[in-house]
Amino acid sequence: MSDLLKIPNFFLAFLVCVLVSCGLIGGYETGGGIVEGKLNVHLVPHSHDDVGWLKTVDQYFVGSNNSIQGACVENVLDSVVTALLRDPNRKFIFAEMAFFRRWWLLQSVKIQALVKKLVSAGQLEFVNGGWCMHDEAASHYIDMIDQTTLGHSLIKLNFNVTPRAGWQIDPFGHSAVQAYLLGAEVILDFWLLLFDLVEYFILVNERLGHYSPPDGFSFEVSEDFEPVQDNPLLFDMNVEKRVNDFINAAVTQANVTRTNHIMWTMGEDFRYQYAESWFKQMDKLIHYVNKDGRVNALYSSPSVYADAKFASNISWPLKTDDYFPYADGGNSYWTGYFTSRPALKGYIRSLSGYYVAARQLEYLTGRRSKGPNTFSLGDALGIAQHHDAVTGTAKQHTTNDYQKRLAIGAHEAETVVNSALSCLTTSTSNCTIPTSTFTQCPLLNISYCPPAENIPSGKSLVIVAYNPLGWNRTDVIRIPVKDANLVVQDNEGNMIEAQFIEFNIVTSNLRSFYTQAYLGILPQDVPKYWLLFQASVPPLGWNTYFITQTTSKGGYVSMVETPQNDDIEIGPGSLKMLFSLNSGQLKRITNSRTGIDLPAQQSYLWYGSSDENQPSGAYIFHPNGSPPMVVSRSVPIKVIRGPLVDEVHQQFNPWIYQVTRLYKDKEHAEFEFIIGEIPTDDSLGKEVITRITADMSTNKVFYTDSNGRDFLKRVRDYREDWPLQVTQPIAGNYYPLNLGMYTRDDKVEMSVLVDRATGGASINDGQMEIMFHRRMLHDDGRGVGEALDETVCNTTTCQGLAIHGNYYMSVDTVGSGSRWRRTTGQEIYSPLLLAFTHENQEDYKASHSTRSTTMDPNYSLPPNVALITLQELEDGSVLLRLAHLYEANEDVDLSTLVKVELKKLFAQKMIKTIRETSLSANQDKSAIKRRPWKVEDRSGPEPSTVRGGPVDPSALVVELGPMEIRTFILQV
Ligand SMILES: [Zn+2]
Repeated sequence: MSDLLKIPNFFLAFLVCVLVSCGLIGGYETGGGIVEGKLNVHLVPHSHDDVGWLKTVDQYFVGSNNSIQGACVENVLDSVVTALLRDPNRKFIFAEMAFFRRWWLLQSVKIQALVKKLVSAGQLEFVNGGWCMHDEAASHYIDMIDQTTLGHSLIKLNFNVTPRAGWQIDPFGHSAVQAYLLGAEVILDFWLLLFDLVEYFILVNERLGHYSPPDGFSFEVSEDFEPVQDNPLLFDMNVEKRVNDFINAAVTQANVTRTNHIMWTMGEDFRYQYAESWFKQMDKLIHYVNKDGRVNALYSSPSVYADAKFASNISWPLKTDDYFPYADGGNSYWTGYFTSRPALKGYIRSLSGYYVAARQLEYLTGRRSKGPNTFSLGDALGIAQHHDAVTGTAKQHTTNDYQKRLAIGAHEAETVVNSALSCLTTSTSNCTIPTSTFTQCPLLNISYCPPAENIPSGKSLVIVAYNPLGWNRTDVIRIPVKDANLVVQDNEGNMIEAQFIEFNIVTSNLRSFYTQAYLGILPQDVPKYWLLFQASVPPLGWNTYFITQTTSKGGYVSMVETPQNDDIEIGPGSLKMLFSLNSGQLKRITNSRTGIDLPAQQSYLWYGSSDENQPSGAYIFHPNGSPPMVVSRSVPIKVIRGPLVDEVHQQFNPWIYQVTRLYKDKEHAEFEFIIGEIPTDDSLGKEVITRITADMSTNKVFYTDSNGRDFLKRVRDYREDWPLQVTQPIAGNYYPLNLGMYTRDDKVEMSVLVDRATGGASINDGQMEIMFHRRMLHDDGRGVGEALDETVCNTTTCQGLAIHGNYYMSVDTVGSGSRWRRTTGQEIYSPLLLAFTHENQEDYKASHSTRSTTMDPNYSLPPNVALITLQELEDGSVLLRLAHLYEANEDVDLSTLVKVELKKLFAQKMIKTIRETSLSANQDKSAIKRRPWKVEDRSGPEPSTVRGGPVDPSALVVELGPMEIRTFILQV
C-alpha cells in the first residue's frame, strides 16, 4: 500500500480538490487549438504500421513473432481508442486500412459505435486511407488507384467520411504521379500538403531523423524517456525543464519552416502499443507549454495543419518533377529496390493486369456477394503495393506471405473468370447452366500448360482469348504442345497459319525444376514444340480457336537455320535486325517502312556488388567500382525462321539465355530472357543488366516513366533543383521504370518497354541499360537484416532464383515513338486472357458464341484512351474509370481532347444514372473544392490544362483531356 493511501480520506479529498483546481490531475487544458500570432506546434500522434516487413501483415496485427520485432497493431488500435475516449481533445491519425479492417471486424457493435463517434468528432482521422502506404517507385498507377479505392470505400461505408490528407511518410522517394493522384483523389490540399510534407522531410532528414518526434519527446511505453513530472508528492519534478526542452526544439524547427505553424510527428514504426503512455505526456506538455505562453502547442492532424498553412496565405514553391533517386549517403543510393525481387515484381504486375480483366468479366456476368469474387485478389494486390512489399525490401518469409496471398486471390479470381467466360460464351441468354468448364494456365511462365499439352482424342483444344482492352488487337498466342500434328482453326472453322518451334533445353530445365518446386510434381512428358498462331480479338470481347489433332504436320515447323555468311538478317515484317554470325552480336536495326537504319548492339553485363563500405542490398545499389563485366563478347547464335516470327536464340553464358523475336505484323523486337541462377561461388554479389547501345547523340538526356504514366526527362549527373555532387556515377543515375524508358537524338527515338517494375539508366550517350536481376550476399543495413539472396527449392536441391521475363524495343522516327510506347504498353499490361477447354469442335460451335464484343460491334475506344476500371461494386453499381494515355504535346494527333461514347461502350446495357466522382470514387466530383494555394514566382493564373467537360446524362459522352483520368459510378 502506498503512503498516499494511508492519508485520512477527508484530507485526500481536499488534496485532490486543490490539485484539480490547479489543473494537475485529470484537468490538463489541451483544447485551446491554434493561437494566432504565436508559433503553433501541431502535435500529430501517429503510428507507422508497415503492412508486412520484418514480420507478415498478420503477425504484425496479432503481435506474434515478437522476437523479430515487438509490434502488435491490435494493441495500437485497442489502446488508442481507449485513450481517445478518455479525453475529447486528443487526436490520432491512422493510415493503413488493411490493418484497420482486421481490427474493425473484431469489434463489438458498441465499440464500433464509439469509434464512429471518434471519427465524426475528428479525434480519429484516416489519412491516406489506402489499403497500405504504397511505394511510389515500383508501383503502377492503376495499382495505386485500386489500393486507395479499396481503403476509401471501407472508410466511406463504415464512417461516411472521405480522407482529406495524404500521408506518405516512409516511401523511399516521391513520384510525380503520386502528386497527381492525391490531387485528384480529394480536395487539392493533398497535393500541396504533400509538398509541404516533403519540405518537412528535408528538414527531418537533416536535423531530426525520420518521422519521429524531436529527440526526447518519444513516449513509447517500452522506451527510456524523461516523463513530465508535475506531481509535488513525488520526487523529480521537472516541468520547467521539459517545457524549456519543448520550446527549444520547437524554435529550432521553426527557424527552418515557413509560417508560424510547425508539425511534430508524434510517433514512429508500430508505436502506441500502450497509447496512454504517449497521450499522458502530450497532455502535460500542451498544458504546461501553453501556460508558459512562449509557444502554443496543440493536438492536431495533417488536415488541421494544412488548414492553418492555407490560412497563412503565403506562396509556396511548386515542384513538378519527382524525388528520385533518394540517397542517404554518398554511397547509399536507394536504387537497388527498383529491381529487387524481380519475380515478386513480375507476379504483382501480371496479376495487376489480370485483376483489371477479371473485374471486367465479373461485371459482365454479375458479381457474387457470396462465393468466389475478385475481392481477395484486390486485397492481396492492395497489400502488395506496400513500400516494403513490391519494393522487394521485406524479409523472405514475409515475401513468401505476400506471394501466398496473391496466389490465393488469383486462384479465386480464376474461378470467377472461368465461370464468367462460360457464361458469356454460352449461346443461350441465361447462363445458369454453363456448358463449358474452362481452365487457365497461370504457370505458362514456366512453360507449363496441361490442357494444351494433353488433348484427348476426338476432341479439340478450345482456346477462348478474351481481350480486356477497348480496341481490337492481333497478337501471337504461344502454347506448349506434345507434337506438331495439330491444326489451328478459327471460330468459323477456317484453317489458320500455325508455326511450331522446338522447345529448347533451357526452357525444359526451367519447367521441370519449377513444376517440382511449385507443384511438387515432375510431369512425365516434356512438350516438344511451342505452337504459335495469330489471334485477332475484338475489344472487351473474345474469339475462339480450335486446336485439333491430325495425322501429319499441321503447320510450319521451324528448323534451325545454317547461316551461309556472317551477316544474318532476321524479321518477317518491315522491321529487320542484322546480327553477326561470328560474334553473335546485334549490328543494326532497320525498318523498311520508316527508312530507319540504326547501328545498335545489345549485350548482358553484371555489376559486382560492393560488400563493404555500404554493401549493395535489398534497398541500395552500390556497385563495387569495377566496370561492369560483359558476360560474353562472342555469343553463339541460333536462328529460327517462320511465317509468323523469326527468332534468334542465344546462350550468353551458362545462366543467361535470350530469345530475340521479330513478328510478322509488329514493328518492335521482343526479347525473352531467362536469367539465373546467378552464381555466387566466387563470393561476389551480381546485379545483371542488359545494355543497348546505338549510334545516337543523346547528350545525357533520357526519359523514364513515373508509375507507368508520365515520362519524365532525366539528365545524367544532373538534378534540376540543386547542384548534384556525383558520388555514384552509376547508382546515382538509376531511375525506376514501370512502363519503360527512351532516348532520342534529332532523327530517331529508341524505346524500351518492360513487363514489371525495374530500374534503368543511360550511363553513356546512346545507351540504355535495364537491371533485371540481383543476387547479393550482404545486408545493406537499412533494417531488413537479410541479404537479398533468393533461392528456390525442389525436393532435393535449392538453387538461386531464375527470372523469366520480357522486354520490348522499338526504334521510331523522332516524335512518333509515343504511339508505340502507349499502345504496346497497354498490350503488355493487359495481355490476352486465355481460357482452355476440351470439346468436340462442332458441338462447341453449335452451343457457343465463338466471337463477340460486349461493346457496340462497330465501336472501339479511341487509341488514346484506356479503360482502367470496369467493376461491379458490392451495391450493384458500376465503377468506370477512363484514362487518357497521352501527355500534352506528346503526340501531334493524340494529345488532344477525346470523346468516349458510353452508350456504345455499354451497348448491351442501359445506363440509368451516371455520377462523376473523385478518383477513389468516395465522393461526388462536384463536392470537391479546390483551394487556391498560392504558388511562388507565378504572376498570372494557373496554366490551363485541357479537361473534359461535364457529362450530359442523355448523350453520355465522356471527354478526356491529355493525362486526364475520370471516374464514374453508373447504375445500369
Ligand atoms: Zn514503412
